[in-house]
Amino acid sequence: MTGWYVAILLSLGLAGLHLGWLRRYRRLALGQAAAATKAPGMTDVFAHMPEGVLLTSPDGLIEFANPAFCRLFGLADEPRGNTVMEAIRIHQANELVDRLKGESSVVQEEFMLPGLDPRYLQVNGVAIREKQGRHRGAILVFHDLTRLKRLENMRQEIVANVSHELRTPLSIIKGYVETLLDAEPDTGTTAHRFLKKIENHSDRLAYLIEDILTLSTLESGGTGLELREVNLHQLAEGVLDGLREMADKKKVQLKNSVPETVILKADSQRLFQALNNLVENGIKYGGECVRVSASQADGKLDLCVADDGPGIPAEACDRIFERFFRVDKARSRELGGTGLGLSIVKHITQLHGGTARVESQLGEGASFHLTFPSAGVEAT
Ligand code: ADP
Repeated sequence: MTGWYVAILLSLGLAGLHLGWLRRYRRLALGQAAAATKAPGMTDVFAHMPEGVLLTSPDGLIEFANPAFCRLFGLADEPRGNTVMEAIRIHQANELVDRLKGESSVVQEEFMLPGLDPRYLQVNGVAIREKQGRHRGAILVFHDLTRLKRLENMRQEIVANVSHELRTPLSIIKGYVETLLDAEPDTGTTAHRFLKKIENHSDRLAYLIEDILTLSTLESGGTGLELREVNLHQLAEGVLDGLREMADKKKVQLKNSVPETVILKADSQRLFQALNNLVENGIKYGGECVRVSASQADGKLDLCVADDGPGIPAEACDRIFERFFRVDKARSRELGGTGLGLSIVKHITQLHGGTARVESQLGEGASFHLTFPSAGVEAT
């Protein structure tokens, strides 16, 4: 039995940290269990682990449960000899033990235990197999995520409430400013200039609130993607149409070089938002032309927004997708930037299983690439 304890410790003590480690340590544990059976203090280690540890036999009976597991589920005694269902009455955990019989790698699941005070658990489970592949049971490690989830919910609530509370007075200020500006059409007066300043700063605040809310929703994973087949040429056309007036004012040419047949399974609204942020930046910070293009290779789809502007210094390229990072703070503010646009782009891309990166050299423009997995397919 102690050999299996060692296997559990090696395998799952690290499960909460990284699944790759879990796989590696499981192999190590199975290979070295015999040699390590005499390792001292194993029982103590299990007794003091904050995670609940459970070992089941090939027929799904509990062979071992550590004290943290018993505390987590309010069990007075170690539930040895019972099925998981009998011991903790959570059918998802029972199903996981069954499912692990046919799995060769680590499985991670999250459960919510309903009740007046719901609790959230993350479980990492792995089947134990002998060298010949015979199923020897399963190891499960339970992490209590309740505190983390509560903090996360609290954070979301605060962001939502604060944003809501800020929006209302802001729209009232904007309303009055617009009325006063209408009554003060002479652009040369001090009152007009001051009102224009109030209007600009109110707009900036409004953009900031919207971006903070968007980022908060994206980061909390609270936005389910509405996936459908999106024609990227048409999407880019929509983005460019919406920004044409701004581009014309700055004498920037907009080009859509996305082939008309490229389709990506994506959430069109979110992808629109990402592309919009990139093209808007190209107009704001770029040179004379902003081009959107797309290409497919090696099962990946690359959506690119390139400009011929001043480019981005190498040291800034690594940080450019960070929240509130700006190459030139004053210029970003002057142009109405919030410092959150690229962070939103990164999150939207990641939610689609992709990655965002920038290629740039000073004086030679910047190309932002959103690379998605092979979900992109050519329409016939
Ligand atoms: P902002 O609201 O300031 O535009 P972003 O997150 O969209 O925030 O961009 C972060 C910073 O990256 C910008 O402030 C700007 O300094 C730089 N940047 C973004 N796009 C470009 C671009 N196409 N060319 C040069 N610099 C850029």
